[in-house]
Amino acid sequence: MSYHKIITWLTVLCAFSGIAMTAVGQDQPASGVTNDLQASQEMQEMQEIQETQEAQEIQVKPWMDTALGADARAQLVIKEMTMDEKLRLLSGYFGDDLPHKGYTRHPQARPDSAGYVEGVPRLGIPALYQADGGIGVASQPSDNPREHTALPSGIATAATWNPELAFQGGAMIGSEARAAGFNVLLGGSVNLMRDPRNGRSFEYAGEDPYLAGVIVGAQIKGIQSNNIISTLKHFALNDQETGRMVVDVKIGDAAARMSDLLALQLAYEIGSPGSVMCAYNRVNGAYACENDYLLNQVLKRDWGFKGWVMSDWGAVHSTIPAANAGLDQQSGAQFDQSHYFGGALKEAVENGHVSQARFDDMVFRVLRAMFAKGLVDHPINMSPIDFAANAAISQADAEEAIVLLKNANKILPLGTAVQKLAIIGGHADVGVLSGGGSSQVYPVGGMAVKGLGPKTWPGPMVYHPSSPMKAIKARLPDAQVKFDSGTDIASAVALAEASDFAIVFAQQWMAESIDVPNLSLPDNQDALIDAVAKANPNTIVILQTGGPVLMPWLEQVAGVLEAWYPGTAGGEAIARIVFGEVSPSGRLPVTFPAAENQLPREKVDGDPSKPHQRFTTTYHEGAAVGYKWFDLKSHKPLFPFGSGMSYTDFSYGDLAAQVNETGQVNVSFTIKNSGVVAGKDVPQIYLSAQKDLWEAPKRLVAFQKVALEPGESKTVSLTIDPRLLAVYDSKDKVWKITKGEYQVLLSRSALEPQASIPLRLPGGVVNLQGK
Ligand code: BGC
Repeated sequence: MSYHKIITWLTVLCAFSGIAMTAVGQDQPASGVTNDLQASQEMQEMQEIQETQEAQEIQVKPWMDTALGADARAQLVIKEMTMDEKLRLLSGYFGDDLPHKGYTRHPQARPDSAGYVEGVPRLGIPALYQADGGIGVASQPSDNPREHTALPSGIATAATWNPELAFQGGAMIGSEARAAGFNVLLGGSVNLMRDPRNGRSFEYAGEDPYLAGVIVGAQIKGIQSNNIISTLKHFALNDQETGRMVVDVKIGDAAARMSDLLALQLAYEIGSPGSVMCAYNRVNGAYACENDYLLNQVLKRDWGFKGWVMSDWGAVHSTIPAANAGLDQQSGAQFDQSHYFGGALKEAVENGHVSQARFDDMVFRVLRAMFAKGLVDHPINMSPIDFAANAAISQADAEEAIVLLKNANKILPLGTAVQKLAIIGGHADVGVLSGGGSSQVYPVGGMAVKGLGPKTWPGPMVYHPSSPMKAIKARLPDAQVKFDSGTDIASAVALAEASDFAIVFAQQWMAESIDVPNLSLPDNQDALIDAVAKANPNTIVILQTGGPVLMPWLEQVAGVLEAWYPGTAGGEAIARIVFGEVSPSGRLPVTFPAAENQLPREKVDGDPSKPHQRFTTTYHEGAAVGYKWFDLKSHKPLFPFGSGMSYTDFSYGDLAAQVNETGQVNVSFTIKNSGVVAGKDVPQIYLSAQKDLWEAPKRLVAFQKVALEPGESKTVSLTIDPRLLAVYDSKDKVWKITKGEYQVLLSRSALEPQASIPLRLPGGVVNLQGK
């Protein structure tokens, strides 16, 4: 509609709106499609005019003044809101039908989505359209799921040790979310891997709070660079899926702040997420979504979080305790026993059980985040997506995520002289695996394999149609490349015997809501690998797993690559590594145990067959998570945290460390690519303290991903976050650095120090923010 026409209509409307409406109505003829059409066109035009008029009116409202800060704008708008409008912002609808509950999704919610929260259009406050999750725009299972680009799994991105890639991946998935009509992405997942059997290990960023926090913080920043909100989750200590709705985690304040909470805190400080999702589990007795300690004290008071706390879907158990403990919004309210933040909340406010001030604070937090993160000033508009460009971003992530764990006699990279190659298992002829549950991204163009995995959520088992075999074949045009599904060991062995090389694609599917029963590869794959390796000494295993697995066949095989769940372009990424087009530079973000009895708990606590039976799990290991536990107990892992090989060699030198005038510790060293091909390395700085000073003998305190041409050297200088040198003091709420002698280790992994120097720390105290 032209500007001129709008003005004409506006004039008419202003003067005679009532009459004009009636006139249109009376014009409805009994006869004729043309008149019908005309009438409906006119109606539509009028609606547009009204909307335009309203939009114009809203634009001049004081809270739309972009020169004001988010606080001022939220305060101005909240004054205009009625009680019911405020309430509307505090409850979310699930974005899919729940037939067993007789619930049909809100008509405005995007189909098959995680959630929807109504806005206040008359005041220019948009609705919240929420999509999962951490690796891309997810979809609930459906006949016609939403299709998007998938990044490699969260643990894979952590394995890149490259915050820049994490940012770029976040920016990409955030742009897809926006283009698909979402302004909240439920991504930014950073629960520490305390137990490798946790079914959601693949979604998170490993076992070290510093690495995990830095990676997920960068990802959140990337997502929010699209003027949408990212949600840091799951707050907090949601480290296992067995009994996740009821388990009570017992841990002390200091231990929590130096482990799980530190990962969340760093991700929060770096990424500044608009919202935080509280978790299902209980922590020291109280549900995470009605936990005063977690929400009011740690998150809002100590860290200064100004956004809003949304619940996980089905994690709310009360109105008054939850609201007063710091929960601001009940998500997917249909999953809870009751609509706690509906009429019950209104009543609680009217009766004074929840103060008006607290109620307004809940609303203010939602509004403030919407202003602060650009949702109000940059309304979402659906737009086309360049899936090819986005696949390239996912592929770059996957290429740096793949970890070379074994390379006997430099069997890798494969040369193009290979004559006969056997490819066995893992549906490698058609695709690559992904992890299941709410974070599931459905591939553009459909799933490579259908009908696998559970029939209902967290199924199905989804393979992205990026075939490693096809990508490998494209690099061996003259060779015989044959596939065997691996389901019949004898047939796989026959193919391996008749080939020069065999690549076994071994896999472990992980999914939300189910922990894996143990760390062994399922479906007899250990026996398959063992038999193939016996038949062909040139056997290479490519793992697609959610986390660590045991490798009883390790001695028999020549090569091992850990590819995690490599995402949309995983097949191509794998082939590029296999043929040396890119040198492997992934490093393990988790320890691979040699046996399950090395873990703090030999079995995951709880009974998976009784998901609602309450129980307790005590984190007796405290902050000694992952490699710290292994160090403390002198357990020798299968592969240490931080490890991973390359096709080139790196040498390190000139390690130096000093405390500068402001008390900061700086570490510097040189690194050289002394091999013949280009590559990236991840030099790691660990600090070890005197016995019993810390939770464990040493901590990762700094790292850097460095790209080097053959022969090239670089000097790397790193500054250490003082909190990584300190012990948290719960009484004084500060981080205390003990004066004394420490050792700085420049290392290839938690167990491969290359150089070490002493460092004398003067001691000191820093605040919660490390200042
Ligand atoms: C998961 C969350 C997710 C939510 C919405 C829950 O089951 O724990 O991570 O964001 O569902 O789909």
